[in-house]
Amino acid sequence: MLRGGCFCRAVRYEIDAEPTNQTICHCTMCRHAAGAQAVAWFSVPPDAVRFVAGEPRRYKSSEHATRSFCPECGTTLTYQSTHTPGDLDITTCSLDEPDKATPVDHTFVRSKLSWVTIADGLPAYPGTRRDGI
Ligand SMILES: [Zn+2]
Ligand SMILES: [Zn+2]
Repeated sequence: MLRGGCFCRAVRYEIDAEPTNQTICHCTMCRHAAGAQAVAWFSVPPDAVRFVAGEPRRYKSSEHATRSFCPECGTTLTYQSTHTPGDLDITTCSLDEPDKATPVDHTFVRSKLSWVTIADGLPAYPGTRRDGI
């Protein structure tokens, strides 16, 4: 069982699944949505996530994507793309124990900021991992 939620604890979730696709995303949209230099994410099946307190506010962040955040404190919580309906992405640092979903690679490194240096030895993909490039 993975547990987590937003900074102010108005929104809390529980997850009954093993995390997959753990990554640090450097894309411009994740950066802007979170106000951070990069965002760590992991995926689980959408039906494995249960909101046990509060409800995140959702917004369409692009043609194919919906993001959500806590309506009280603004913590970025989820990302879902119609391209990958079997994956609901959760922000790793909204977990109570983020070390339970340690990132295994970097994605969208072609958008990485010039002052961010990747020095953890993990694979770094220009775009998605699926592209394999
Ligand atoms: Zn909150
Ligand atoms: Zn991204």
